[in-house]
Amino acid sequence: MKRESMAVRPMRIFLNRITPLIALVSYFTGMLSAQQPKTIYVAIRVDDIFMSQTNIQPQEIDSLITMLNRHGAKLQLAVIPHRLIEPQNADGKMKNDLKRFLKQGHMISLHGWNHRHQPTGNTGQEFQDSKSGEWVPYDSIEIQLRRGKVLLEEIAGKPVATYVSPGNDDQLHPINLKALHALNMRWVTAPKIIEPLWADSINSIPDMPEYTWAIDSSAYSAMLDSAKTDFTKSISNSRYYSFCMHDHFTRYAWHNGILIRWVDEFLTWIEHRPGMRVKFVTIEDLKPEYFGTR
Ligand SMILES: [Zn+2]
Repeated sequence: MKRESMAVRPMRIFLNRITPLIALVSYFTGMLSAQQPKTIYVAIRVDDIFMSQTNIQPQEIDSLITMLNRHGAKLQLAVIPHRLIEPQNADGKMKNDLKRFLKQGHMISLHGWNHRHQPTGNTGQEFQDSKSGEWVPYDSIEIQLRRGKVLLEEIAGKPVATYVSPGNDDQLHPINLKALHALNMRWVTAPKIIEPLWADSINSIPDMPEYTWAIDSSAYSAMLDSAKTDFTKSISNSRYYSFCMHDHFTRYAWHNGILIRWVDEFLTWIEHRPGMRVKFVTIEDLKPEYFGTR
């Protein structure tokens, strides 16, 4: 048998004594961490603020926001800036509403300029022809987005650095990205990325699922079931979950507020999942210094 040196033996005795202690500490810290609820960040967005080609009136998002405020939930409003210079905003109501929402902790993003492809008049995209894939001239994209950004920043009183592409515009196309870089926009959505990335470039988070398009009583339960399934799947491998809705279905006038009831029920269900704690955020809350909004 090999003899231990004078230096090794005290070390071995020490280790023998401390090992059970380490095991005990690991056991209890393991138990503690197992009991710690997992924080899940939930972000919600509404696009097309304020949609004008609709007879669902009055134009408002207050009913939805009042309900979200009860949950402490925050909303990212993707605003079509051209609406602010249209006759419907002659009294400044839209502008004042947006200011009020910002004070409550919600955020606004740039959603194109007019949400209308000028050469064809289509509202399903803005800067790219959905059939030919052709883009309107780069200069006019940059000029119009710049005008939109200025209008929104006057309301926000701080940089508006987030962009949501209108309709079918390819949001990661080099032409689009070039314009967004030129305007120092920091974020677009993209479908294939799992969690926020914070590289020094245009960034992406997952495109948000939309469950509530044209929601009515016949679709209510099925839409809720898909949202619950998605949520469960999403939080099994990440800490983030988000979903998106569209003005004008968010208006109370759409089937007596059916969408508002749906979101209320969904958020209540989320809040009561065991083993987790929900933190409602906007993308800017996660990294405000990155967006220059702190
Ligand atoms: Zn849109």
